[in-house]
Amino acid sequence: MRIEEDLKLDFKDVLIRPKRSTLSTRKDVDISRSFKFKHSKEKFEGVPIVAANMDGVGTMDMARAFHKDGNGLSVALTKHYDKDVLVEFFKSKAAANAWYSIGTAERDLEKLQAVLKDLKKEVVTPINRICLDVANGYSQAFIDYVKTIRDLFPNCLLMAGNVVTGEMTEELILSGADIVKVGIGPGSVCTTRKMTGIGYPQLSAVIECADAAHGLGGHVCSDGGCTVPGDIAKAFGGGADFVMLGGMLSGHDESEMKVIEKDGEKFVEFYGMSSSTAMDKHSGGVANYRASEGKTVHVPYRGSVENTLQDVLGGLRSTCTYVGAKRLKELSKRTSFIRVSQQLNTVFGNG
Ligand code: 5GP
Repeated sequence: MRIEEDLKLDFKDVLIRPKRSTLSTRKDVDISRSFKFKHSKEKFEGVPIVAANMDGVGTMDMARAFHKDGNGLSVALTKHYDKDVLVEFFKSKAAANAWYSIGTAERDLEKLQAVLKDLKKEVVTPINRICLDVANGYSQAFIDYVKTIRDLFPNCLLMAGNVVTGEMTEELILSGADIVKVGIGPGSVCTTRKMTGIGYPQLSAVIECADAAHGLGGHVCSDGGCTVPGDIAKAFGGGADFVMLGGMLSGHDESEMKVIEKDGEKFVEFYGMSSSTAMDKHSGGVANYRASEGKTVHVPYRGSVENTLQDVLGGLRSTCTYVGAKRLKELSKRTSFIRVSQQLNTVFGNG
């Protein structure tokens, strides 16, 4: 047994110090990024915020809304759409902003190959972004699977995770991942920390994994734990190239969920993808050798995602203005984090 004494930080433990700036309005700030990736050589142009591959968030309606809005955000589709629905979707222009999500189950790869086969005839938007997602990216089997997917799809942009430490980030990049997804336990409907005791404070995970990835010409996506627009700015400030959002994008018209009325107020169901709700829905219940590591909540119904995006993108532009970053690319270089005391933290929370 060993105890690490180094300080590790979550988003709530810091604030960003304002800096002298020549920017007079947030209108002048460019929050899009352009990347070229290590293995696929694919290019990315747009706002590097990704809707998580969760029911109620990673939906086709969300991708259509982002496409219509022209905001450059993208959506990691939940992996539970049927093959024919996926084929139809990938024939549409809205798919330009979508990531095809898979896990390590054989049926996921079989479905992807079947979709690609059907699409060959009539493809409008090729599937060129894959999100390979498992709760625990630390197994040798997962590393081998990343290599397999890279070999099968050499030109596809591949995002893979989740991990929280530098050495595993390097391993995944060397195995073929263009982008490593970072985060174990910070999610709004995740109970991994409670159920297993495993986790890593998200801001430190991002800082350490970004450093490791950038050293190898790779990229990272901070996944989970953002509850307010300022958290997204902190993730980018810590070195994240992409930020993935679940809870912040739940509860909208685009969630493809029914709106529930309770005591005159409207709610939408939102659940973790390892919750018993998700497993009942997609896998016929929780297998007897495992426990659910996600919970189910009712989030307030918030209408169209457009309104939320205005807050998210406006907040990020404003952060850039406060630190004098004309482009999102400069934010990390211009970020100095200030640790906030526990007392301040409790009184003001994330507000
Ligand atoms: P949020 O933005 O809601 O804080 O976090 C979203 C992320 O939580 C997802 O992208 C995914 O990595 C993670 N997540 C989603 N469902 C579950 C779950 O049931 N259990 C765990 N441990 N993590 C989850």
